Amino acid sequence: MISIKGLTKRFDDLEVLKGMSAEINKGEVVVLVGPSGSGKTTFLRCLNALEIPNEGVVSIGGTTIDFKGRVAKNELLEMRRRTGMVFQSYNLFPHKTALENVMEGPVVVQGKSREEAKAQAVKLLEKVGLGDKVDFYPYQLSGGQQQRVGIARALAIEPEVMLFDEPTSALDPELVADVLAVMKELAEEGMTMVVVTHEMRFAKDVADRVIFMDGGHILEEGPPEQVLDNPKNERTRQFLNLIH
Ligand code: ATP
Repeated sequence: MISIKGLTKRFDDLEVLKGMSAEINKGEVVVLVGPSGSGKTTFLRCLNALEIPNEGVVSIGGTTIDFKGRVAKNELLEMRRRTGMVFQSYNLFPHKTALENVMEGPVVVQGKSREEAKAQAVKLLEKVGLGDKVDFYPYQLSGGQQQRVGIARALAIEPEVMLFDEPTSALDPELVADVLAVMKELAEEGMTMVVVTHEMRFAKDVADRVIFMDGGHILEEGPPEQVLDNPKNERTRQFLNLIH
């Protein structure tokens, strides 16, 4: 479903991803953990083609891109359409309602009619528990509600994989549960998900696999109970002690 081989990303002299490789199966939920600066966000952004890797071959669904050569813009757009991204800071359009935010991708990127996009957006907002807030603007919504709009918006392009970058880190503790519940429901429906999070309860409860990243590499990976409760690598152990 997703195959990543030798993914390398540099910002000037700084090599952030150092030849990362991973395979993610259809329907799998992978939680990515690691110290600040280890490259987790950059990894997700490379999968979403928001960052262009320097090297590596990435396959998502039927799209394969070898970043060593010149990459055509339509290939990047194709990859972006296969991935839904949820950001820590929601990134909603402030001057658009919840409904308009969710309709934007299908209308602008996929060329759907407004009627079709609207009907789908209403369904998605109902799915994330915001059926009564469709006409609200972001400033009228709590952080947790804004993030659920963010999830509905990412789902609207019907992606093959959902990428979550610390989706609950900016939220007050009482708002975290609603967002995690929506994510858990998606996982149970069989959505393929890659989630960067410090929510270890979520990882234990929902993840099929935990990947520990450090310094642009995967240091350890396995089922949550193995990596989180019984890490083999000393760096993993140190990191988990810090966040527990
Ligand atoms: P955190 O947990 O703090 O979000 P992270 O593991 O997600 O960290 P990244 O955000 O991927 O790490 O950043 C990895 C490194 O790449 C950091 O040193 C960061 O400063 C650098 N970096 C990220 N984006 C850019 C950019 N656009 N230009 C230059 N350096 C960048």
